[in-house]
Amino acid sequence: MNAEIISVGTELLMGQILNTNARYISGRLADLGINLYYHITVGDNHDRLKDSIKTGFSRSDILIFTGGLGPTEDDLTKETIADYFGLELIIYEDYKEKLIERMVSRGYQCTPNNFKQVMFPKDHCIILPNPNGSAPGCIIEMDGKAAIMMPGPPWEMEPMFEAQVVPYLEKRSNCRFYSRTLRIFGRGESQVEHDIQDIVDLQTNPTIAPYAKAAETTLRITARCGDEAEGEELILPVMDEICDRIGEYVYSSHGKEMHEVCAELLSKNQLKLAVAESCTGGMIASQLVSVPGSSEWFIEGAVTYAPEAKMCRLGVKAETLDKYTDVSAETAMEMAEGIRISSGADIGISTTGYAGPSGAPDQVGHVFIGVSHRDGVQAYEFHFKGSRERVRITATLNALNLLRKLILSKGMYKPHCYMI
Ligand code: ATP
Ligand code: MG
Repeated sequence: MNAEIISVGTELLMGQILNTNARYISGRLADLGINLYYHITVGDNHDRLKDSIKTGFSRSDILIFTGGLGPTEDDLTKETIADYFGLELIIYEDYKEKLIERMVSRGYQCTPNNFKQVMFPKDHCIILPNPNGSAPGCIIEMDGKAAIMMPGPPWEMEPMFEAQVVPYLEKRSNCRFYSRTLRIFGRGESQVEHDIQDIVDLQTNPTIAPYAKAAETTLRITARCGDEAEGEELILPVMDEICDRIGEYVYSSHGKEMHEVCAELLSKNQLKLAVAESCTGGMIASQLVSVPGSSEWFIEGAVTYAPEAKMCRLGVKAETLDKYTDVSAETAMEMAEGIRISSGADIGISTTGYAGPSGAPDQVGHVFIGVSHRDGVQAYEFHFKGSRERVRITATLNALNLLRKLILSKGMYKPHCYMI
């Protein structure tokens, strides 16, 4: 089964928005073992879109469209595809009523162009309800080909893809797909690939797909299976083999992000955290409080940028700043101690460093992370590479990783890579 993605929208061609839908769907198709050889991006233009459909179907069984399902003039995806197949669009009365209800409940009136969104071909069509927006998606199936249409906004498209398109693709390819995601920190993508290349080469089911993210690597292991239990059975031995080699770098075997893992560890162990950030400027706090329920374990985040703030808010000593400077192990430790004690937290984390880009080359990326708890305080020194943003992201991830390791080392959990 070959698929192709057609992203519709002039704003994509003009560089006004990033085509994250294509990235998302591509990743998921790879997980599902569906071949994807082409992406097309085309503007809101009937003739050029029709050309793209012809080209797409000349080489692929399934075309996946995003965008152009809305009510406005330039939304023409469904109309053009129906035209390609020679199908007429009619209003689906039940969806029309739902649309009116939705608009009224939001205080809007339906105008005739809104009803465009509930027009579909009478036959050959599967509707994909959209709980997150007003335009349903749909699948038109004819002559062994399928055109899958989803709305452009990612928050509408992604849930629709997961809940409705994945089961459709599974049914069409006559099998189920089940995945587990290993998240890896502290070992680069090429190193990870090298470590496990022989395992990857040997595997056909499950398959292993590595992805790199800023300062992290992800391995998605996907099995074709009858059901979830069979999927687990196929995946677990492979995951064991991988973890035997690189388990010390694996921080989640369920695809959770570093801050989610930290949140779960803090919550389960009833530990309270406070952070004092300099070069990360609130990134650590921001990631942690994005987790629902964080008020249970997150006490305080202080962005103490100036030396005076480090002294006034955290009690860093003037002599420490004078003698060692504000980017030093000593300052990081006093920051971590200061925030922990003053806030009454169990753990205090701090960051201080040079994010760049200005500064001496050996200074840029030089970061200290302090970790304080009731048994002591420690500072860790790093030399990160890259842009200001990259240095800050990497420092944030490392700080969270140190927090994770601290909790695990306190013996509250057996450090086992399948844990979270
Ligand atoms: P709407 O009903 O909101 O108009 P639509 O299905 O007609 O939805 P578009 O009008 O093409 O979709 O795009 C609406 C918005 O969705 C865009 O402004 C953009 O924010 C987002 N969007 C569209 N296509 C993509 C894409 N490929 N990747 C990421 N975001 C996208
Ligand atoms: Mg639109």
